[in-house]
Amino acid sequence: MRKLKAIDTSCEEFAKEIISDTAERLQPVYTAIQGKLKNLHDDYDDKFLHDNLQNVNKSGLSSGELNRYGKLYKADCEAIQKLKFQVLRNEIGIYDDVCPICGIGPANTIDHFVPEGDYPEYCVHPRNLIPLCNDCNGPKRTLLKTDTNERALWNNYLDESPNRQFLFCDVAMIEDMPRASFYIDNRNGVDKQVYSRIERTFERMHILEHYNSSSSGKAYYYLKVLASHEIYSEEEVVSWLRDEITGKDVNDFVAVYLDALITSTECMKWILDKLSELHSMMA
Ligand SMILES: [Zn+2]
Repeated sequence: MRKLKAIDTSCEEFAKEIISDTAERLQPVYTAIQGKLKNLHDDYDDKFLHDNLQNVNKSGLSSGELNRYGKLYKADCEAIQKLKFQVLRNEIGIYDDVCPICGIGPANTIDHFVPEGDYPEYCVHPRNLIPLCNDCNGPKRTLLKTDTNERALWNNYLDESPNRQFLFCDVAMIEDMPRASFYIDNRNGVDKQVYSRIERTFERMHILEHYNSSSSGKAYYYLKVLASHEIYSEEEVVSWLRDEITGKDVNDFVAVYLDALITSTECMKWILDKLSELHSMMA
């Protein structure tokens, strides 16, 4: 749940760049519709600023105009690729394309936070475009608000991941493999509203299932890393993995998984056995 910094280009400027890339004969049409949407786009910015996106408005434009305007969005156009590059940079400016929701796959799709199907008005609003991985973007999302009119899902531009742990993992050896079973729990008292949003987002995007299935690959990855550092004793393994955990967010699924591995006696035994196998292969 990595926080991203939205770009501050106005929707007007951003759309202008996209329009200039379309066929010349269509440009006046797009520009005219864009002009009619100016107030609505300013209203989006106001709602973004006040964290009230669940209450964005619809325009009074005809469905013909809206259909036309919706075609302006193309994920591979230069302006959107540039946006992706800018927002996925981390605090020290390094491009990190890992999905900011799940932290597993690359963020190779663009999510329209306010769904483009229901609201084509915001299809190229730069603060409505969030790069996510396929798995997180796919099942999302026409959900905008809850029954009690709260913003339903996590927004990487607006939400800050809690520094209290809400993600946990049990591991058990099954068929000679440590199998993970992730779950979320609010035992550490994350703000209730924030936690409900996390719960809905995890459920909608099947995040726990993705963590469960990605974890065994991570176990093998760390075995190889440990072997390449010539680490074979239990004490060294624990100390090395503890350092790895310390460098990560408290709810990072890899950190939570590694912690579960090193606190399980049977998984630790498996790690040490595998390391000794790798050791003798490399000897
Ligand atoms: Zn994802």
